[in-house]
Amino acid sequence: MPRHDLVIIGAGPGGYIAAIRAAQLGLNVACIEKDPRLGGTCLRVGCIPSKALLESSDLYGEARKSFEKHGIVLESVKLNLAQMLKRKDTIVDGLTQGVAGLFKKHKITRYEGTGRLLRAGAVAVGSDKREVTLECQHVILASGSVSAPLAGVELDHERIGTSTEALAWPEVPKHLVVIGAGVIGLELGSVWARLGAKVSVLEYQERILPGMDSELAREAQRAFEKQGLVFHLGSRVSSARATKQSAVVAAEGREPIACDRVLLAVGRAPNTQGLGLEQAGVALDARGRVVVDEAFATNLPGVFAIGDLIRGPMLAHKAEEEGVACVERIVTGHGHVNYDAIPNVVYTAPEFASVGKTEEELAAAGVPYRKGSFPFLANARARALGHTDGRVKILAHRDTDRVLGVHILGPRAGDLIAECAAAIEFGASSEDLARTCHAHPTLAEAVKEAALAVDGRTLNL
Ligand code: FAD
Ligand code: NAD
Repeated sequence: MPRHDLVIIGAGPGGYIAAIRAAQLGLNVACIEKDPRLGGTCLRVGCIPSKALLESSDLYGEARKSFEKHGIVLESVKLNLAQMLKRKDTIVDGLTQGVAGLFKKHKITRYEGTGRLLRAGAVAVGSDKREVTLECQHVILASGSVSAPLAGVELDHERIGTSTEALAWPEVPKHLVVIGAGVIGLELGSVWARLGAKVSVLEYQERILPGMDSELAREAQRAFEKQGLVFHLGSRVSSARATKQSAVVAAEGREPIACDRVLLAVGRAPNTQGLGLEQAGVALDARGRVVVDEAFATNLPGVFAIGDLIRGPMLAHKAEEEGVACVERIVTGHGHVNYDAIPNVVYTAPEFASVGKTEEELAAAGVPYRKGSFPFLANARARALGHTDGRVKILAHRDTDRVLGVHILGPRAGDLIAECAAAIEFGASSEDLARTCHAHPTLAEAVKEAALAVDGRTLNL
């Protein structure tokens, strides 16, 4: 019977990073993945293909709408969707093969098949051919998440699909209805709107992107509306049905909408199916997530869980941090994740990024704060880029000036937020950010100016 120090189920960003860190720390590690390609949701059907299409569609939109302003005149701009999709697939293939290469480099044993927890210290790997039992000292469950279903929405994976299908539609929909104005709905809605689809977004709440800064979310909504997205807020979708020719989406209190494609994007659910958790006696919470303590330990000795399978934001970098911390706790007894410093980025245009607390959270917790904000309209680099929508908002403790939250709507917000995450991680004050020399002309100067604004002393506004 094969024996390993550590067996990991799932090779997404949580599992594969945990495997590499464990190998670095000298463990004999095996990773079980049921898909022939390593990298999980993130690399195969999530972060990477969506960002590839966002980049391509953004370039297409710029070529059609903005190049002339730069004095670049194109005779015609045509879409070759097949090539766009091929480019995305090539990027995915390259990166998944890269993970396979990393497994070889770190001598991680790879099992292709479905992993099932038998008990503490034993895991079964099943493939078409046979089932093998692996013995191990430790197990990390990292099986990720799947698209959450919605009652009344009949997925046929043709007309009515999830993000996985929406990353590969071979034709631009004429009319796409997106259910849910969350991250997936807005990213993939943006892709297809840029490529020419009419896009209607039905959202249950009275706002888009629940959980993110509400003031900036309203500003983001206006920017997306300028790009053609039509929002129906306060619309709880109750059904979606497909026929051969079309689909119809119904929301409470609204006229049904006919369209040719539907994207269901109302969240993701932990992927526990077939993992053997019930039989093994692993405790789940009311939302079906594996219950863990601060060391990622489940209620079974030697069995741990990380990533989308447990509490917290469903983000690739959160899963990675947990993979590293979990393994370090197992091997060295130390390792932690600072959940206050996990950035969150929506890769729309403008991008929307945040780290730390929102104003709503601070108000609810009764934490006194000051805020400083600076618009990209007053930033020289944003003017040169021609992307001036949005602003940087910094929230700092009223008495200590410690940075508590940063929210950025604007060009490359996803890159700008890294400095702010570092500030929170190091316990910086807004004065620290304000006194840090930022290169000119850069978008990052808007972060410095927002920090100056906390103390009412912006220099360029
Ligand atoms: P996963 O990546 O889901 O990996 C789990 C792996 O386990 C899978 O490969 C699965 O095949 C395997 N598995 C499951 N059960 C078994 C079993 N029994 N046996 C063997 N293998 C099994 N996050 C970001 O941070 N940034 C983004 O830009 C971003 N974009 C996204 C876009 C889309 C369209 C989607 C759907 C998600 C996106 N996410 C993004 C979220 C991100 O993909 C997840 O948070 C991340 O992949 C979670 O990592 P994980 O390792 O926990 O699980
Ligand atoms: P989400 O939680 O971001 O958004 C779901 C939206 O659907 C919410 O606004 C919710 O109010 C709405 N909704 C729920 N029920 C509804 C109904 N009946 N009718 C209308 N609207 C309804 O979920 P998502 O967009 O599916 O994304 C899933 C996860 O994937 C997210 O948690 C996110 O962390 C992750 N993800 C991250 C990125 C990124 O980091 N850039 C990109 C894509 C996905």
